[in-house]
Amino acid sequence: MEGFPKFDILKAIYQFYDDYVSQFDFVCQPKCTACCTQHVCITTLEGAFIIAYLKEKKCLNLLDRLNQVDPNRLFSPRLSTNMLAAYCLNRREPPVEEECFSTAPCPFLEDGLCLIYPVRPFACRSFFSQERCDIKGEAVVPPVLVTINILLNQLLEHVDTPGCYGNMIKVLLFLKNEENLGRYFLQQCLMPEGLVPNRPIPGFLFPPEHQREVRKAIDKLALLRIGQIDMKNVLTQILRPGGEHV
Ligand code: SF4
Repeated sequence: MEGFPKFDILKAIYQFYDDYVSQFDFVCQPKCTACCTQHVCITTLEGAFIIAYLKEKKCLNLLDRLNQVDPNRLFSPRLSTNMLAAYCLNRREPPVEEECFSTAPCPFLEDGLCLIYPVRPFACRSFFSQERCDIKGEAVVPPVLVTINILLNQLLEHVDTPGCYGNMIKVLLFLKNEENLGRYFLQQCLMPEGLVPNRPIPGFLFPPEHQREVRKAIDKLALLRIGQIDMKNVLTQILRPGGEHV
């Protein structure tokens, strides 16, 4: 999966995150698939990365599974993470998101395992729980990890401007069209129906008690050097003096 420089940034962010979460203990096990629903949201960069992987593995036909999903029942966010951050930083009430309807399994789930596991999107990588969701009724996530997840979601969206964000199935259905994928790789502005445009980071969202941990994570991210891209430069452009928090 060579050729598109943003793939290298994406891989570096995934690696950073996988290393970061290794400090926590979770009860998640293979074949526990409670979180593998059609609710997953991703960026177009992540979608293009999945398609490039399927192409390389000669299993693009897996995308045919997407056609079996009822698009009317899919959750489609009205706001990206950075749009939501802008509302919060400006102390404005964000529009209410629609209720999530489909709890049907993700089309990439087979026999309790993920068919695209090596390239699963950030949303899937960040599904964790410290207690059994099926018993507890919801995931139990350390609050600081929620903060780091938001920060990395913001960064991924920022890196993927002028791409889009939305339901994974809609993103993949859009990009599986060769013409759309070509336009994405040329970084042309895309306005697909049902997806929202990615935005640059307006400031980071974190509670004051997580400031140290956020700073540590940003300092580590700044050390990433990816081909021609120095992550420190990317982050310096983003960060305002002193950072932003709510
Ligand atoms: S992509 Fe894989 S990990 Fe993510 S919801 Fe689907 S089956 Fe689960």
